[in-house]
Amino acid sequence: MNFDVVVIGGGPAGYVAAIKSAQLGKTVACIEKNIDDAGKQRYGGTCLNVGCIPSKALLDSSQRFYDATKHLSGHGIDIKNIALDLPKMMDRKDGVVTKLTSGILGLFKANNVTPIEGTATLLANKEIKVINNVGEESTISADNIILASGSEPIEIPIAPWSENITDSTGALEFTSVPKKLGVIGAGVIGLELGSVWSRLGSEVIVLEALEDFLFMADRQIARDVFKEFSKQGLDIRLGSKVISAKDDGKKVTVSYQTSDGDESLEFDKLIVAVGRRPYTNSLLGEDSGVKVDEKGFVTVNEFCETSQPGVYAVGDLVRGPMLAHKGSEEGIVVAERIAGKKAQLNYDLIPSVIYTHPEVAWVGKNEQEAQSIGEIKTGVFPFAASGRALASDESVGFVKIVADKKTDTILGVHAFGPAAAEIVQQGAIAMEFGSSAEDLGLTVFSHPTVSEALHEAALAVNNEAIHIPNRKR
Ligand code: FAD
Ligand code: NAD
Repeated sequence: MNFDVVVIGGGPAGYVAAIKSAQLGKTVACIEKNIDDAGKQRYGGTCLNVGCIPSKALLDSSQRFYDATKHLSGHGIDIKNIALDLPKMMDRKDGVVTKLTSGILGLFKANNVTPIEGTATLLANKEIKVINNVGEESTISADNIILASGSEPIEIPIAPWSENITDSTGALEFTSVPKKLGVIGAGVIGLELGSVWSRLGSEVIVLEALEDFLFMADRQIARDVFKEFSKQGLDIRLGSKVISAKDDGKKVTVSYQTSDGDESLEFDKLIVAVGRRPYTNSLLGEDSGVKVDEKGFVTVNEFCETSQPGVYAVGDLVRGPMLAHKGSEEGIVVAERIAGKKAQLNYDLIPSVIYTHPEVAWVGKNEQEAQSIGEIKTGVFPFAASGRALASDESVGFVKIVADKKTDTILGVHAFGPAAAEIVQQGAIAMEFGSSAEDLGLTVFSHPTVSEALHEAALAVNNEAIHIPNRKR
């Protein structure tokens, strides 16, 4: 069998690359090894099966539970006998996942992409060996190959996986609410999944080795986010480096070092969320000729071309943030370049979101990064001054815009608060079109919306905000 394009891996990077290639007139196959309990192929990768989608389903359900128990009475809604039905919550999450993963096979059919089940290994001369789940072997070839095998959670030797020590996947499937839950790592997964279980009733302690909280975020945002999460009950202990975790089958004992000395804690469950690494098991045959760096990432240039002509790599398997939308866009760029188009990806404008409540999001440079490059100005607008945020009882946080002092060009948009992800996305669109703060300030925003905070932050960059009482004169 020969195809114009064969994609290895059916996650958001791979399946999108496959569909785009087919839309551009190529004959395409997408090889995926993941199968469900019935032996049926399951596309969607980490994102749809055990990442973005199930975590957001639980974040949403747990927030509704939390609101019902803590916030609705403030709106004059008195609900008695609120009870958590965890199996039902999990069933809803699984239902959303199944709907989306099976939808990909429908999209393949509609776009003429051939799904191939099995584990693929890239050989020399653009040949691929495939072994399916019953052990049958076949070989296919392609003019172009896109590697998209994704990533896996990092297991640390001091806290090996066990019944009560789990990665993010296990933490999406707890069958009861742990009374006391430990999390190693105050990164994105630690904060999102820590929030889920905290809202459902766990006492959550997050141990973070670094002294800095959310080191990749704007400092002003990170400071306020830390305060807000602490208020919500997440006990985040910075400068706490875990040195051992022992599971005796009932409890997990965690020892960690702080500047004050060694400490220890006991948990019912422990989530290890210290990052992910590229997944290349079985992917590259000895003579594939594809280079891998010292951290295991497949080496690529800005167009996702590997060291082998005609072989590309996209998504978590290559450098850059491990985000679904980054992988999908790389998949599209590669598909377009294979079809002879001059596509490229603007790596400077990939938005980041932490889907806590409130959300934390940003795109472009933060104040500190921008300051280190040149002269800047900033505009900040608090949600406490937004009519819509107050009406919705969502007045925590702010929007911040960083702009070039001379040209007024927007360099970064940062938000912590209601619909922060959507607000930052509007900022990303403006930045992609080269907007200045003035341009955004001249745009008409609907009233009352939380997006008006973006408008006011843009006006605040040039000290022209209307709804900030202590405006500088
Ligand atoms: P993957 O999604 O990992 O897909 C790779 C696929 O390749 C898998 O299906 C695998 O089975 C298959 N495969 C591997 N090797 C082979 C082989 N040799 N042969 C055949 N098939 C193979 N990102 C966001 O942008 N937003 C979020 O909200 C978000 N939330 C997340 C929450 C959690 C808990 C986790 C763990 C991750 C989250 N991410 C999120 C990250 C996101 O899931 C990844 O960035 C994304 O899935 C990467 O896509 P990918 O296609 O590169 O790889
Ligand atoms: P991360 O890199 O975001 O955070 C890991 C944290 O663990 C870091 O802060 C690190 O300092 C800390 N750490 C490492 N070793 C430690 C130790 N021994 N003791 C205490 N702390 C330690 O990684 P993650 O949270 O596992 O997430 C993995 C990837 O998944 C992320 O890079 C992200 O791109 C992706 N993801 C994205 C989203 C989203 O977009 N909303 C959600 C979940 C996951």
